[in-house]
Amino acid sequence: MITESTIEAARLAMRRATIQADMIEIRLDYLTDFDFSRVENLQTLTAETTLPTIITCRHIAEGGKQKIDEAIRLPLLIEGAKRYADFCDIEAAHYEETIKLQPDIDKLIVSYHDFEEPSKNLPEIYEQLIKLPAAIHKFAVRSNAIGDTLPVFKILERARHDDRKFIAIAMNEPGIITRILGCSRGSFLTYGSFDKAKASAPGQVTIDELRQLYRIHQLTDETNITGIIGNPVSHSASPAMHNRAFAALSLDWVYLPMEVSNIRAFFEDFIKPHSRRMNWKLQGFSVTIPHKISIMPFLNEINRTAGQIGAVNTVVIRDDKAIGYNTDVDGAMQPLEKVCRLADQSCAVIGAGGSARAVIFGLLERQAKVSVFARNIEKAKPLADEFAIELLPLDELEKTQASILINTTPIGMQGHSIDSSIVPLNALNHQPIVYDLVYNPLETRLLKDAREAGCQTISGLEMLVAQAGLQFKLWTGKTPDLELMKTAALEKLKL
Ligand code: NAP
Repeated sequence: MITESTIEAARLAMRRATIQADMIEIRLDYLTDFDFSRVENLQTLTAETTLPTIITCRHIAEGGKQKIDEAIRLPLLIEGAKRYADFCDIEAAHYEETIKLQPDIDKLIVSYHDFEEPSKNLPEIYEQLIKLPAAIHKFAVRSNAIGDTLPVFKILERARHDDRKFIAIAMNEPGIITRILGCSRGSFLTYGSFDKAKASAPGQVTIDELRQLYRIHQLTDETNITGIIGNPVSHSASPAMHNRAFAALSLDWVYLPMEVSNIRAFFEDFIKPHSRRMNWKLQGFSVTIPHKISIMPFLNEINRTAGQIGAVNTVVIRDDKAIGYNTDVDGAMQPLEKVCRLADQSCAVIGAGGSARAVIFGLLERQAKVSVFARNIEKAKPLADEFAIELLPLDELEKTQASILINTTPIGMQGHSIDSSIVPLNALNHQPIVYDLVYNPLETRLLKDAREAGCQTISGLEMLVAQAGLQFKLWTGKTPDLELMKTAALEKLKL
């Protein structure tokens, strides 16, 4: 999708798109230096590519960037498609005027957009749309929740059954799965932008992501599905890590970002065999904030570690049962175990939140001696009592002689308190191993101080990759290339 504001930039983008895309749509309404009254002007654009092209000049009421006189806009599209393009896209609302101009029906895409509301009556809209003769019909509707994608997939199923060329998209973040899975379910095409800034509709994914990351050309109804559920999920490095690993092992699997707010509705609509409305081969998913605890009542089984820790970060679907696991525990321990034996080591865990729980559980399981340092002693006390470990205020950290220091607070994190460290320099003099769960930046202030003090350091990225590797193994039974997953995470996080 070309959404440049000048002819020159659009021509350049057309050349770039020719290498990356299968088809190009030019949004003429984005152009600020284009003379819309002269159809011949289109040639300078379409001549830049050998790919099939769609010309679109969206009406302002349906997301157009500028108001263009209808007496100019519609003839430009209809005549332009006849002479220079493969298709023109016209809104269903303007079909009557369009027909008067005698378009080439075989080059007509008739579309319907709703940016405001998730449409409740998509089957009705489908019926109305297909009454208007055209080569392809399309709708793009708003989604507020992942459940709003269900009627969109249903329509694709219907269109496939009716043997119609149809494009159906749910816009916005929760609708991303329709952009990724749409073509595997019969959508004539899906739209990709060059980069996020050039997206023409909310939730649009880049061409590069569609092709390389999600491998949409290989996806079918039979593709095994995994993903991440949470809110938000757009920042997550997990799709990059898992999809890269699936591709490397040539597995017919895909990992999707799924913005889920209502966990109960997600289980009803997408998972439970008797109520689900989504027809897909879901094999499991990662779970992130805010669902790691609230998901537990919906699971059929919970494995021992996840049960004891009281949080689930991984679900495996096996024989229609949802089974909860927690890979944060072993994921947090693996990087440490690579550099030392944990039994009898004295460990200072800083912070007493969710990740501290996983770390403390893993350390105790491995017979390490653990003290927890927290800013709010009252709040941290139940955790310390539960695990029967020493609880100390943060200002005691200075005196610690622990051989391993682990930061589980967000201090030092990008966007939170970058360039701050929770550990005073004195606490590093005896050169403990220093492990920071924060992974962005890769070298936090704490890790920099520790390196300069001669300590061995471990970045939170190691845990991020290790817990993902364990999830991958749980779903597929195969061992992924962790170095590859790490590279994918580094690229996504731009570290
Ligand atoms: P959490 O449940 O909110 O716990 C955060 C803990 O840090 C709480 O004990 C909190 O204390 C404490 N804390 C927050 N701000 C503090 C401050 N200014 N001074 C002292 N203590 C402070 O969060 P979480 O899920 O454990 O995550 C914590 C960090 O670990 C995040 O940066 C996250 O990105 C990172 N993490 C990394 C991985 C990985 O794979 N590498 C995995 C999980 C988490 P209060 O209870 O008093 O608020």
